[in-house]
Amino acid sequence: MAHWLDHLSLYRLPWSLTDNPIAWLEPTQACNLACDGCYRKNVREHKPISEVEEELRQFAKLRNFDGVSIAGGDPLLHPHVVEIVRRVKDMGRKAIINTNGVGLTPELLREMKAAGLVGLTFHVDSHQGRPKWRDRTERQMNDLRSEYVEMVASVGGLSCAFNSTVYDDTLAQVPDVVDWAHRHIEHVHTVVFITYRAATTGGFDYYVNGKKADMGKLVYTIEEPRRTDISARDVADVIHGAFPDYAPCAYLNGTVHPDTFKWLLAMRVGTPRRIHGYVGPKTMELTQAGYHLLTGRYMSYAPPEALESGRSLMAGVWPFDPALRVAARSWARSFLDSPFEALGTQHLQAVVCIQPIDIAPDGRDNMCDGCPDMTLHEGKLVWSCRLEEYRQFGALATAVPRGSTKPSLPVVENPTST
Ligand code: SF4
Repeated sequence: MAHWLDHLSLYRLPWSLTDNPIAWLEPTQACNLACDGCYRKNVREHKPISEVEEELRQFAKLRNFDGVSIAGGDPLLHPHVVEIVRRVKDMGRKAIINTNGVGLTPELLREMKAAGLVGLTFHVDSHQGRPKWRDRTERQMNDLRSEYVEMVASVGGLSCAFNSTVYDDTLAQVPDVVDWAHRHIEHVHTVVFITYRAATTGGFDYYVNGKKADMGKLVYTIEEPRRTDISARDVADVIHGAFPDYAPCAYLNGTVHPDTFKWLLAMRVGTPRRIHGYVGPKTMELTQAGYHLLTGRYMSYAPPEALESGRSLMAGVWPFDPALRVAARSWARSFLDSPFEALGTQHLQAVVCIQPIDIAPDGRDNMCDGCPDMTLHEGKLVWSCRLEEYRQFGALATAVPRGSTKPSLPVVENPTST
């Protein structure tokens, strides 16, 4: 039976290696948590500002981008994080902080905003070993998410997003987070679910440049049997099961399997009381193409004001977008029972499912085609989720099904270098 979600009926986001909304900057490797699914070695090392500036210059030579995800480690541990935000703003790009939130204070938030911060993406889930939040469900973690929402809203004018890693035992809890995000649609602009991945040594050997690699050196290698194959479709199925009107509009495919949803984007419109519907592929195409036409870049984080434009979007774009027509009809009906709410702001909120690397049975690695989260290693753009392989081995490791004598398939490399 055909799956309810067909990639060819959605808009393929036009992002590529050289023209992409995002560049991924890691000014520090240090972190104050030890998340279950983390793929970065925790080392108390910060890059000096001069090195950060050099990386920003290299990014600007290699990639046309709209925003910089300032990540890590946790970037709030960097002693000059405010200055880094300022440098990103000074180069005319949007500065986004990707943080677990532990080090965030209202004072630091105000300082970063004054320096040009555009938004924050908080990583919050129940597998982070947070001292006061152990053994909680995702529903219970919503209390912590709400604390960060309140802090960001009190400063105002900032984009606010939340990431959660999805594990086997939390997959069924995803709707609790989707529901929480809906109730906070006035202040939460994006909610992202990233499926857990790890390198497993069970069925594969790994090689680098023809020699067997010691995968034990990588933080993301595991030996115990554990589920590492949850897909974005699985997450979408769970959301669809709880919210049958959920309808993604755009995606990025895999580099090996065209029908894998590596990034699956849905955009809903409504108020904290009701979701009227979802933006369709046509609106997303208009948004991406229009922004690129006007600015020369694909859009990363939309400013909060733009995400309050649900009313004009439903009123103006519905003739071009059947999905938005459904939303506009629901909005029109809501005038009957809640005219004040219908006349009020109609918010937009993105729901994103991300499926990182998959290893095919023959050992090929299925990466995100048009990966936004590419970072730099020795002047080359590399997938940030596999940076540790470059650091430990100088190249990507190739998985070879156990029993084969040597790698028979080429590693997919990113050839760009300065
Ligand atoms: S390839 Fe890796 S770094 Fe890039 S978007 Fe996919 S998971 Fe993220």
